[in-house]
Parts: sequence; structure tokens; C-alpha cells
Amino acid sequence: MTSLNSSPAVLGSFFTVFFPVATGVLGLLIGSFLNVVVWRVPRGESVVRPPSACPRCGRAIRARDNIPVLSWLMLRGRCRDCGAPIARRYPLVEAGTGIAFAVAAWATGPSWRLPALLYLVGAGIALALIDLDVHRLPDPIVLPSYGAALALLALASWNPGSASDWGALLRAAIGGVVLFAVYFVIVMVYPAGMGFGDVKLAGVLGLYLGWFGWGALALGWFAAFLLGGVFAIGLLVTGRAGRKSGVPFGPWMIGGAFLGLLAGGPVVGWYLTLL
Ligand SMILES: [Zn+2]
Repeated sequence: MTSLNSSPAVLGSFFTVFFPVATGVLGLLIGSFLNVVVWRVPRGESVVRPPSACPRCGRAIRARDNIPVLSWLMLRGRCRDCGAPIARRYPLVEAGTGIAFAVAAWATGPSWRLPALLYLVGAGIALALIDLDVHRLPDPIVLPSYGAALALLALASWNPGSASDWGALLRAAIGGVVLFAVYFVIVMVYPAGMGFGDVKLAGVLGLYLGWFGWGALALGWFAAFLLGGVFAIGLLVTGRAGRKSGVPFGPWMIGGAFLGLLAGGPVVGWYLTLL
């Protein structure tokens, strides 16, 4: 009788584990696509065609050599045809995207917020890497993200099958405008520090942070400057960057936004109790 009684709980806990794992597998595949995006979008190339090929010997990558992470391990990081090394970054991006997807699924469960979060994870990883590579945040990714974020956050607010929260969507719009305006002023006052690409990205991140709450907005904004500032000071102190060398700020904005989304509520609540 005990086993019968406990079967729904067992089923429930199985789903609790299965759902993040399945979402993580989806993340591995998306991560494989992000590797293509990060290489091709800054070069103005199509992300769909032609299929991936070895840059040295030009042979197309076979389907069995295109399995995220596993293929790289099986090939020991080398092209099957010519032995050219395949950068370690490829499996790392795939694994990182998989883990981030799994964490998002574990944090929200099967919810209407999840599609919006997964989009942010994918776009955020691609933009952070491109900014590190070429110090740019390409419009073909940032601008459509306004439409995608608004549509997916509207779906999250609608929350079909449960109570809607349209106040969150209003907060998102305010967050987007506020963060865009703040970065716009910063770039106008101190153009050497950041570029207009950062301003456009700030609007997208503001939509997300605003949707999740004022605490998330405040922390996401603050954390970007804290992380970026600590990193820049570290580079200056260790002599690895002069005052003039540009440190891309996009990765810190994105990292700060994720921190804001994860911890905005609890951290700001704790801070308010100190006042
Ligand atoms: Zn090759």
C-alpha cells in the first residue's frame, strides 16, 4: 500500500529531475548553434548555410561528429580528416549553455517564464562571447531581442492556465526605458567607457530585470558595474591592461543581469532589513 500511496510523489520527483535534464540537453544543442552564431554573425555570414566545415581542410562536419561535447571528446579535439585542432571553447560553450538551461528549468519548473529565460540565456551567451571577441554587440542579435523579449515576457505575464500578471509587463517596459536611458546618459557623459551597443543591450536587459521586479532591476544594474569595475581594476593592477585599452562591458552587463534575476528578490530583501 505504501508504494501505491507514494507513487505520485515518486512520479513528481522523477519529473523534478527529468525536466531540468531534458532542458539541459536542449541547451547543449542550442549551445552548438551558438558556436555558429558567435563565429558567423560578426562576419555578416548566414547562420544557416553553408553547413559547418573544418576551416583548414574544408571537409563538412559529419552529423556524428556534431554531437555537442561528446564528439569533441571522442575526436580528442581534432578534425577527423586533417587533424586540425578544434578549439576547447566549442565544447565549453555547449556544456555551459546546457548547464544554464538546466539551472533555469530547475529554478522555474515547467512555467511560462521559462521560454523568456531560455531566450535570454542563449542571446546573452552569444552576445557576451562576440563582445569579448570583437568588442561589438551586433544589431542583428540585439534589435530583434526587443521583439522576442517583449513577446516572451507577455506570454509569461499572460501565464495561460493560471493567474495573469500584467503589472509585471508594465514593470518590464519601465525597466527597459529606465536602463536604456541610464546607459544613454553614461555614454553621452563619458563616451570612452562604453559604446552605443551597450545602450541598446541595456534596454533588453532592463525589460527582463523589470519584469522580475524592482529588486532584480536594481541588483542587475549594480552588479554589472561592480563586476566590470572589479575586473577592470584587476587588469590595471596586474598590468595586463592600460587605461586606454577597451574592456568590453557587455559580458558584465549580461552577467550582472543574470545575478539580478537569480538573487534580486532575496538580496534586496536582506538589504532592506538592514536599513
Ligand atoms: Zn580538417
